[in-house]
Amino acid sequence: AHQARINTVVESLTRGPRNVVFPQKNGQVQPVSEIFGQNVFTRSEMAKMLPKPVYKTFIQTLKGKSKIDKVTADAIAHAAKVWSIERGATHFTHWFQPLNDSTAEKHDSFLTLKSSFVDGSEVVSAIDTFSGSQLLQSEPDASSFPSGGMRSTFEARGYTVWDTKSPMFIQEGPHGTSVLYIPSVFISYNGQALDEKSVLLRSSEALEKVALELLNVIEPKDSDSRSNLVYTTLGTEQEYFLIDRSLYTLRPDLKITGRTLIGGLPPRHQQLEDHYFGKIPTRVLSAISECELELAKLGVPIKTRHNEVAPAQFEVAPIFEEALLAVDHNLLTMDVLHRVAHRHKLKVLFHEKPFQGVNGSGKHCNWSMSTDKGENLLDPSSNPETNYRFLLFLVATLKAVLDHGDLLRAGIASASNDHRLGAQEAPPGIISAFLGSQLTEVLDAVEEGREVNYQAAGLDFQHVRVKGTVLDLKVANLPPISRDLTDRNRTSPFAFTGNKFEFRAVGSKQSPSFPMTLLNSAVAKTLTEVLADLNQVKGDKPVASEEDQLQVIRKYIKLTKAVRFEGDNYSDEWVQEAEKRGLVNIKKSPDAFARLLRKENKDMLKEMGVFSEAELDSRYHILVEKYAKDVTIEAQTMITMIIQQVLPAAYEYRRNLAESASFMKTVGVESSPEVDLLNELTPIVSSLQKDITALKYLMVELLDVEDIVKLADRCCNEVLPKMQVIRELADKLERNVADKLWPLPKYTELFLNI
Ligand code: ADP
Ligand code: MG
Repeated sequence: AHQARINTVVESLTRGPRNVVFPQKNGQVQPVSEIFGQNVFTRSEMAKMLPKPVYKTFIQTLKGKSKIDKVTADAIAHAAKVWSIERGATHFTHWFQPLNDSTAEKHDSFLTLKSSFVDGSEVVSAIDTFSGSQLLQSEPDASSFPSGGMRSTFEARGYTVWDTKSPMFIQEGPHGTSVLYIPSVFISYNGQALDEKSVLLRSSEALEKVALELLNVIEPKDSDSRSNLVYTTLGTEQEYFLIDRSLYTLRPDLKITGRTLIGGLPPRHQQLEDHYFGKIPTRVLSAISECELELAKLGVPIKTRHNEVAPAQFEVAPIFEEALLAVDHNLLTMDVLHRVAHRHKLKVLFHEKPFQGVNGSGKHCNWSMSTDKGENLLDPSSNPETNYRFLLFLVATLKAVLDHGDLLRAGIASASNDHRLGAQEAPPGIISAFLGSQLTEVLDAVEEGREVNYQAAGLDFQHVRVKGTVLDLKVANLPPISRDLTDRNRTSPFAFTGNKFEFRAVGSKQSPSFPMTLLNSAVAKTLTEVLADLNQVKGDKPVASEEDQLQVIRKYIKLTKAVRFEGDNYSDEWVQEAEKRGLVNIKKSPDAFARLLRKENKDMLKEMGVFSEAELDSRYHILVEKYAKDVTIEAQTMITMIIQQVLPAAYEYRRNLAESASFMKTVGVESSPEVDLLNELTPIVSSLQKDITALKYLMVELLDVEDIVKLADRCCNEVLPKMQVIRELADKLERNVADKLWPLPKYTELFLNI
């Protein structure tokens, strides 16, 4: 019998929730608001600890007015050292985001040895130091991070540079110690981006600049309400699975590749639709609560938690923040979830499709733009006067999705997300935008130059009051657009949800940084176009009139019609319809990656100052190579599991059956059902044996393919289909071999034993 699995299943069932101690005050659990940000070296903490002029200089540098000078850097470093040492810090580290979907850190202790001479002999003393230059910059050995050929190993110089926009924080370690984290960008000796963060920063800057220019063309001059700053906002809905850690340990596929390469669906999984928003299991709730506590200390504003659609699947979402910070916070959330789950003997799975046959996990990226006046530029608002502003930003976004949809598709492509996209649970490889019927009616009306008529459009919004001045009917009558009334379309990859767009195709495992970078860049580009049109239409006037704006809006509504789709994105009709409209349907990652190099995409990214030609080429190579490696590792893992675990279990079972049949014969039972079963198993086992051998040979053959683009294509078109056939055979065996002989925890056990 397969004792390890049986024992572990029993063990997992007897585990209770871990006792989590929450900070108490007056005999009660302390409110989150009091714990929030406790481990962050916030601006207010800085203001308290720094001399006034130093703090002022720092704030100026944040606005891009000047660079940090040595005196300021030294003062901030000193304050950060004192602040963090009071909280147990022994080390500091630059914390950055190399191109491998994770974060990187290298700890340096504060320890310095200082020698002095007392009576002519050397005395060495130990002190804690942290200088401004250590804060600003560090040089990790960069040769082992992906660079896509931008650096050869012999010139491995890479620098991490403090990203002053993201605050420093401490992470608690063992025995009351902690480490000071300095959020950083990672660049090469020549200033080329080697990470996710620098390009995100560049794209935000590009978008913010042109968005502000546009606002300045439509906002009245010399008014207090004029915007001085625009920034992008992001709220990430993170989906994940949680399973028992010991059971996980018995699954080499989960451990090595993050997903089950074999394993069949149990009779009951998600079809009863009883998991979504159901009661969170006690053990899981305990883990999530501890996680939220840690994240609160780190200043990550976690807001919601709930069960997701698939069994053992959950979601966590924060309150949205400035995108740059939101990305850091999403990565911290994943990191903390990972570590805390461990303490609870749970394992968190961020893979987009850990289990075949039930829903996979996404990371919905809710995106918008805000001004320094706290106004959301994608909020339709109840004030008709600002509808124009809203509509200008809306059509620019639609134009970005139309012109660069394939680029957005490239930004979410990976070997893992391929299993989820187009699987009737996530959007297909066609990028379109959903607006909802109310907004659709508004755009249609503006396009046709008629009044908005919700009733005629089959919409009955009696409680929408048209208030304020009625606009010149020559132009159009724009009634208020209420954001709560926008309907929902779960099937759209890019859906307008009231006052933001929700990019739903993003994978759960990836950093939101790259997709957001591409989205920001594309919108920056189309805002440039909208701005040019506005400037042309308005002529010499100081600001564009409403007529001017409407004229431009109308032009873009017409231009972007093809990218708007309100129907079911999962349907076959849409695939055909999209083709007619000229929208591309990119099903697999290798095809998606190639889109990064399409001339219009390349030109746009260069023009917006986000990627240089070399950086983009390197990105492309890193992604293609990663894809090929991911699939290769999966295939190798599958080969090992089939040969070492699945086939031996099948052979042992066959032997049992044969022995039983032959034993029956000795007592005179002639026809035995064991033989029937054996005959049923034989073709499955033979096919599996044959197919796994073929896969083995294919993988050996692929070792000689040096061109990574060719390799990725072959992984996609040859390896993966073979793996699917093998999986189906293995799953047949799982259903037919005696349970006590089966070595791998089954889906039921993984789903339910938490
Ligand atoms: P729903 O998707 O059901 O509309 P929520 O309103 O809870 O859900 O929002 C989901 C996520 O979108 C949350 O993280 C929320 O903070 C975020 N969000 C809300 N408004 C914005 C905005 N203006 N910009 C970016 N993200 C936003
Ligand atoms: Mg949502």
